[in-house]
Amino acid sequence: MYFVNEAVKDLLRLYRRVWALSHAMSVMGWDLETYMPVEGVEERSVAHAELSLMTQELLLRREFLEALERASKQESLNDYERGVVRVLEREVRIARVLPPRLVEELARVTQEGRVAWKVAREKNDFEIFRPYLEKIVDLTREKANYLGFREHPYDALLDIYEEGMTTRDVETMFTYLEPRIRRVLDRVLSEGKYSVDHPLEKEKYLREEAEKLNLAVLETFGFPIGKRARLDVSAHPFTINMGLKDVRITTRYEGYDFKRTLFSVIHEFGHALYELQIDEGLKYTPVGSGVSLGIHESQSRFWENVIGRSRAFVNAFIDLIRLVSPARDRDPEDIYVYFNTVKPSLIRVDADEVTYNLHIILRFKLEKLMITGEVKVAELPELWDHEMESLLGIKPKNYSEGVLQDIHWSMGSIGYFPTYTLGTLLSSQIAYYMDRDLGGLYAHVVNKDFQRIKDYLREKIHRWGSIYPPKELLLKSFGETYNPEYFVGYLESKFSN
Ligand code: MG
Repeated sequence: MYFVNEAVKDLLRLYRRVWALSHAMSVMGWDLETYMPVEGVEERSVAHAELSLMTQELLLRREFLEALERASKQESLNDYERGVVRVLEREVRIARVLPPRLVEELARVTQEGRVAWKVAREKNDFEIFRPYLEKIVDLTREKANYLGFREHPYDALLDIYEEGMTTRDVETMFTYLEPRIRRVLDRVLSEGKYSVDHPLEKEKYLREEAEKLNLAVLETFGFPIGKRARLDVSAHPFTINMGLKDVRITTRYEGYDFKRTLFSVIHEFGHALYELQIDEGLKYTPVGSGVSLGIHESQSRFWENVIGRSRAFVNAFIDLIRLVSPARDRDPEDIYVYFNTVKPSLIRVDADEVTYNLHIILRFKLEKLMITGEVKVAELPELWDHEMESLLGIKPKNYSEGVLQDIHWSMGSIGYFPTYTLGTLLSSQIAYYMDRDLGGLYAHVVNKDFQRIKDYLREKIHRWGSIYPPKELLLKSFGETYNPEYFVGYLESKFSN
């Protein structure tokens, strides 16, 4: 039995209504990004804001707070029950300490800011976005102060996305990574094998062919389309879960460079599998979904990079890959190089495995300086270009490929970027342990035998949902928390000749 304590059972009974609201909001969010007619957006935003308010009201109702307090005072709760109390205490604390005025202002300025950011990016004019970003940074600083922190205001923001992660953790991680990534990058660039403009990156493909490949890969991985999952099309690929038995992913078909759609599908599959393999006993509870953004991203990166960009994958799927016309006559090694080209580039989302984290280092540096006020928003564009040049040796020609490229700041998501790196690091850490425990990871990939890989991920990560905080889960499953050494080892061995 998962939940036996009467006080916790009472709490979960009350929570079910909150769960139902979040279920509804997920369906609405999915619909908004996929099939909703464009002009539906205004009413949808209002409906969404009202449901968010209802959620907050439910969490702060006296009955709910009393039930939570009663549950938290119980002795000898099991791990599942303790997880429920921990997660709800976090949610209630956030709902409680932030004044409604601040929440309301942030919601409004980010909604307007998103529109301004889009226009600014299209017109390549930072000034259009600047006043909004200034307001967003001010409000976010205020938010950090309300949430509280021990050492650095940025700690409070990181913790929203990655429970327990601190600015110091991230600094330690990047101080270790930066020189080592540069070393690998320098070697890759001087050797030339991977630092090429591959012809397939420009070549057009037929959507039906790419779709066929995507679906075939998903089927081989065992993605339960129609039963518990869907694949649809949206402007930006994403994963969303309505519950344990309804998890949906999307991709996009740009019409050229087919690896883009293929890897977006494999990436989102990794996110979706996490949700699909959560223990059914956690249904309708606050612990029935992935525990943090970093752990979530470790799952998507594991499938995208460790599996999808491997020689074993290319060899196993070469016949399917060749269904896409531009790949028809290409040999596996050529496809492997195409999947793994490495080049300093300006756009984060297009970056390769070697340079990707340098893009995150830049954003982390700037966000910290913004939050402490050491750098003014007006100074960002210049600082961005300067940092880009020192990290990757290239300089944006305009704001759109520089400071205006990401949507995150316009949404108020400051403190989010480091979770991308964290996920990447963890993906190779998990790969190391899986390889050791399964007696060779790629032997299974070559045989298209993904069951043992999925079972391993279920046991170590997925089934637990959010019952343990991220660091505790890692300790319990692997005997250590985040460790960047595995990622460096992975890069070094992958990109050495
Ligand atoms: Mg992702």
